Amino acid sequence: MAWHIARQPGGLVALAIQYGHLRTVLDTDVASGYGTRSRRGIHDLIDIETAISTAETAADLHERYNRGEGASGPAARQALNQASTIRRFEDTAVKADFARKYLARDGTVLYDNPHALLLCRYKRDLALCERSASSTTPALDRCVTGCANTVRTDHHAQQLRDRADSLASRALNLPQPIADRLLVTAGQLRNLADTHDRTRITCQEART
Ligand code: SF4
Repeated sequence: MAWHIARQPGGLVALAIQYGHLRTVLDTDVASGYGTRSRRGIHDLIDIETAISTAETAADLHERYNRGEGASGPAARQALNQASTIRRFEDTAVKADFARKYLARDGTVLYDNPHALLLCRYKRDLALCERSASSTTPALDRCVTGCANTVRTDHHAQQLRDRADSLASRALNLPQPIADRLLVTAGQLRNLADTHDRTRITCQEART
């Protein structure tokens, strides 16, 4: 189940939402039907799948950058540096203890957030979504625009424009107050994409 959640469309957003739900569900009433070992087991699986997914996200960023895509955002340079040395877990059995330590490396783990159309280089004291001292993962489903942990690629900029176009097209068939709200959101998405275009760094520029 954890593998499925981590890899379905929506990726880690779904995982984050589901993860919170799972923890809540497993730690409270419904858990009364489960043993402690069962609860630990599902938490272990989710930690392992989260660690593998974040490593895949970093590897994907590294590949995109080396293929010539640009990256922007306050955390872009750090994320690119970290992604260039990321360890891949292909053909490696990842243990739960290792996964938890891997995910606890504050400021170095890169989460995909397709809901917000960005990557999150999670550094706890910079996070606008979650400031709890005990939190070791971002609240991806409560992402806040302008967070210093944000990274965007050219692919995200294109997705922002696609989403803006979709909203604008839906607005054509809706009553004015609702249409206006959608058009405002579409404009905000296009602004984010334009900001990416103006501030993106590329591998070619970094080498010159
Ligand atoms: S608000 Fe910041 S830390 Fe939280 S998910 Fe968004 S980018 Fe990550």
